[in-house]
Amino acid sequence: MEYNIVVLDGDGIGPEICKGAISVLERTGAKYGHTFNFRHCLMGGCAIDACGNPLPEETVQACLASDSVLLGAVGGPKWDHLGGDVRPEAGLLGIRKAMGLYSNIRPAKLWSSLADASPLRKDLTKNGVEIIIVRELTGGIYFGHRERGFEANGEEFAVDTERYTTHEIERITRIACELAMKRTKKIISVDKANVLENSRLWRKVVHEYVEKNYPEITVQDMLVDNTAMQIVKNPAQFDVVVTSNIFGDILSDEAAQVTGSIGMLASSSLGDTTCGLYEPIHGSAPDIAGKDIANPIATILAAAMMLRDSFGLTEEYAAIESAIQRVLDKGYRTADIWSEGMTKVAGSEMAKLIADEI
Ligand code: NAD
Repeated sequence: MEYNIVVLDGDGIGPEICKGAISVLERTGAKYGHTFNFRHCLMGGCAIDACGNPLPEETVQACLASDSVLLGAVGGPKWDHLGGDVRPEAGLLGIRKAMGLYSNIRPAKLWSSLADASPLRKDLTKNGVEIIIVRELTGGIYFGHRERGFEANGEEFAVDTERYTTHEIERITRIACELAMKRTKKIISVDKANVLENSRLWRKVVHEYVEKNYPEITVQDMLVDNTAMQIVKNPAQFDVVVTSNIFGDILSDEAAQVTGSIGMLASSSLGDTTCGLYEPIHGSAPDIAGKDIANPIATILAAAMMLRDSFGLTEEYAAIESAIQRVLDKGYRTADIWSEGMTKVAGSEMAKLIADEI
């Protein structure tokens, strides 16, 4: 098969880590008989430098016409002084909106050979940790009605509103169900239904939708405050978690921290079609850009998720994941995950080792 992938290298370490991921995809394509065509487009600070716009129309059109998009990272101190619409991050929000991406999926996995990287006690992580948080991305309090004003007595107030419609809850539930069907067929739905009316709607819709469309799946409800505790108390109990924008934002950072290194975690954003946006969860790391020390594994995993979740290439995904595992098992580490007794390698070398293992 032939697939057209748009690569948004972005800024800082973005071009280095995308290069590593592309080399792994090319190797995977050669082994399994696929052709991956890569088209590099501008987004973020590099696009501001080239044409004064963090998200040029040409980039939007290329992404919409592609089979999926691989993103490095955007931003850096060079563009920090710029205002709202011309900041690099505006490019990211803009492309998510243009592509209709309403779900963000962040698997937080603790690799057995990196168990020491977790801040949790070993007895809490010995059964492995893989928490997949499915976060609603385009609704809820981040996009609800907001207001700032003064009361009659002169006291200042601010309002942000959590709003979800049935349709918005159903479509994110579907994404979680599709993932759960390939895994344990269990979903934990996180809300605050003991207090929030919005969460009571969330809970009702999730249950009705799953019962009607995915009867094989079991749904467990968990209050968000309890979830925050359980992630550090018993992380192994989680598999697929579905939740709102704000709860997902907070819990996915907590889950990522449980697994240790920011350089190892990928995420995908999907909407109604199979065309998604895949990226590492970390930023452009300007402090280490150009030094060839950035860990490319998060971006390689993002590329692997693209193969599985957008192209349906599950065997190819597994091949990349197990290649990473073997390279780690052999003791190779980039600087961010290095520990005594391990072999320290450059970012480009790490990508080559993984590609060679495919
Ligand atoms: P960051 O994730 O870029 O870096 C945080 C720390 O982690 C730094 O010390 C960095 O060196 C390290 N790090 C990150 N990725 C690494 C990797 N692959 N290998 C080794 N070490 C790695 O976060 P930040 O410093 O807060 O932000 C830097 C810039 O990135 C900012 O402009 C920010 O707005 C932007 N940012 C972009 C995205 C995105 O593009 N999706 C996400 C977050 C931050």
